[in-house]
Formats: sequence, C-alpha cells, structure tokens
Amino acid sequence: MRFGFVFLAAALWAQSPKQLHPTVEKVAAAVSTERIAATLQKLESFGTRDIHSTQIHEATAWIEQEFKSMSPRLQVTLDKHLAKKRGRMMRDVEVTNVVAVLPGKTQPAVHVLITAHYDSVVLVRKPAVGNAPAAIDNAASAAAPKAPGVSDDASGVAAVMELARVMSQHEFDKTVVFIAFSGEEYGLLGALGYATAAKKAGMKIEAVLNNDIIGNDDNGQGLKVSNVVRVFSEDPADSPSRAIARYVRDTGERYIPGMKVDAVFRNDRFGRGGDHTAFNNNGYPGVRLTTVAEDLKKQHSPDDTFANASPSYCAQVARVNGAALASLALAPAPPMVTRDVTRTEAETGYSVQPNLARGKESVDAVLKWKMGTEPDLAGYAVVVRSTTSPFWERETYVGKVSEFTLKNLSIDDAVIGVKAIDKDGVESIVSAYVLPKRNFAPVN
Ligand SMILES: [Zn+2]
Repeated sequence: MRFGFVFLAAALWAQSPKQLHPTVEKVAAAVSTERIAATLQKLESFGTRDIHSTQIHEATAWIEQEFKSMSPRLQVTLDKHLAKKRGRMMRDVEVTNVVAVLPGKTQPAVHVLITAHYDSVVLVRKPAVGNAPAAIDNAASAAAPKAPGVSDDASGVAAVMELARVMSQHEFDKTVVFIAFSGEEYGLLGALGYATAAKKAGMKIEAVLNNDIIGNDDNGQGLKVSNVVRVFSEDPADSPSRAIARYVRDTGERYIPGMKVDAVFRNDRFGRGGDHTAFNNNGYPGVRLTTVAEDLKKQHSPDDTFANASPSYCAQVARVNGAALASLALAPAPPMVTRDVTRTEAETGYSVQPNLARGKESVDAVLKWKMGTEPDLAGYAVVVRSTTSPFWERETYVGKVSEFTLKNLSIDDAVIGVKAIDKDGVESIVSAYVLPKRNFAPVN
C-alpha cells in the first residue's frame, strides 16, 4: 500500500498546490483604507512636493519619521543623489529617496522592492500662440504653490507606507525594501540614482513592484473601474519582468478575489514613463502597477486632489501588492535553468548553449534545472503554454527533482517553464526556458 499512498500524495499535490499562506492573508487583511486616506491627505497638505520647493523637505522628513515609528526592525535611511539640471529642471537639485529595509531571515542577500514617488509636479502652460499647443512654462511650473499630486503619486507612496507598516510585523525569507523615490517627475532622477548604485554594488534584486497613479478609479470622462489594476511589463514575452507581471496577476487574484489584475504587455503606457524603467535599464526586472482610469485632465494639475481620489481603490491595489510582495518574500528562489553542457557553442551556433533539449526520441522535451538549497524547499512544478498564449496553461507538480521529461511534446511548439514551491505551498517566479542569441558567422 506504500506505493498507493505515495501516488495519492503526488496526485493531491498536482491538483491543489494553490493554497493560501496565513502570513500573506494577514498582510492583505491588515491593509487599512483609513490609514491610506490619512496618508493621502497628509501628503496633499504640504501644498507642493516639487523638487525645487522647500516643502518637499518637510515631506521627506515626515515619511522618514513615519517609517521609523513603524517597527525597530525597519532600517530607515535617506538616499541622496545630486541631479544635474536637465529637461524641465531650473537648476541642479539634490533629490532624496526615503528607504526602509526589512531584513530577510534566510535569504537576506535577495531583495524584493516596492516603490513609488513622493515628488509632485504641476505643468503651467504659456498662453497658446495660434494653433500650436501651449508650451510648458518651466519657471512657473517649478514655482507653483499648489501641486497636490494625490493620485500621482501620493497614492503609490500610501501603498508603500501601509505595506511597510503591515509587513514589518512579520518575518520573511528575503529582504523587503520599501522606497519613496524623489525626482520622478523630472526624469526618474531618484530611481536612476538608486538603481545605478545598486547595479554598481552588485545588489541582488529579484523584483520591483512600482506603484504610480493608483489613487483614482474614475477618468473624469465616463469610465469608472474600481476592481481592476493594470500591470505593465517590458518585452520580450518571457522577460524576467513579464514573469513578475504574471506572478502579480496570479497571486493578486488568488488572495484578493474582488480584484482583477490586467496584464498589459508593454513597458509602460504609450510614450509615458515611470521609475520601474530606471531598474529595467540597469538590468533589473520590474513592473508598473497603475489604475485603468487615468484622469489625464487632472494629472499634473492643481486638481489632482484628495477630493478627486478614491482611498478604497488605492487600498485594494495595496492589497494586491501585499499579496504579491509577501508571497515573493517568502518564496524560494526561481530555479536556475541549466545549459546543455553536452554540446559546445561551436556545435550549436548559439552564444551560450540552449537550456532546453530534445529527448532521445527527438519528440520529447527534456528540462534540467539546478536544485535549490532552501531548507523549506518542497519541489518543482513544470508549466507549459502555447507560443501564442499570454499565460501559462498547464501545470504539473514533479517533486524534488532537477530534471523532467515531457513526453511527446515538441520544444518547437511550446513555451516551457519551471517554478520552485516551498513546504507551505508558496511559489517562486517562473523561470522560462528561452533561446539564447544565435551566433551567425560573418559572410566574407
Ligand atoms: Zn507619477
């Protein structure tokens, strides 16, 4: 009967690995709409948080103090960068990021980040001349007394701060970093300073969840959507950033059933930018969460106020973030998919050997990966989708092994990935098997 028992256990695993983790449930449940509303109002009360203003320094000090008051386990620092005058800036400006670090227990060198920007801007325009669009008056914009920036992006900061408060009451495997960036509105200045320094220092960042404009659910032109959040991720189809977007969709919808996560397969809104791009450009995976109902008329204007915001929507998006972030922070490392070392680069023509091979019968797909070393590692699940499908379609729990053969599956026709799962059922980000760049010899 022993064989029967093992078979049954494996079958149960394969059918129901999607269990809820109590810590993740607690994080999502503890997010308070009232606290988020209070943070939105407080950040609005500074009048402006333009990087040229004196008021932004009061906002910096307030955020720092709030982080410090949440838990002695949060390590709070000010991360300063001198930004040279560029674009719409009036002069060189020192921008200050407020950073709170919750050290991880078992994988402290691996970081997962949640970010937003606390600086704000209003764009004041010169009188229009003829039919040409009115030009931006840089001096008047920088000196404007009212730049409330509630949806853009006090809302993201409120989510970051609320999750810092809630998550600092728990312990996680990985190090969680909560950041309020400055200078986003003048060219991602604070995020670029941080991401560039991180790359230089060899900091290991597994994921960045950037929240920018999550505070309103009404676009002012007839579209009101309170139960959907968009997550943007850079190409290609199996980039590490895209894998994070799928992870946010999967965990967000699993823990917050009232919310839908709408993955948009683009780096950002058309021709627009955000702080996650500073990380992407430094080789780090990251995504942007943002409302479906962006109000383009109120954005960057004195009307981006608390009165026009929705704290309850902001709180729901914070809960989606909490589900994804807490899951990520508890999860094993994504599997390292190993290369086919039996063939040389000269033989294959690839700059590095492909990591997915055909089996002996040539119709099988043979996957290999490196076994993780986490003490709480339970095993792996292999996922498959068609090349035209956006999301994984099939999932098979294969146990604690480092190799698996998918019989009669042509590697030409499917995308295949693998994820690690711990003993509590928490899943890692999926590592997809992707083809390396091919070396074509030059034609003489
Ligand atoms: Zn913004």
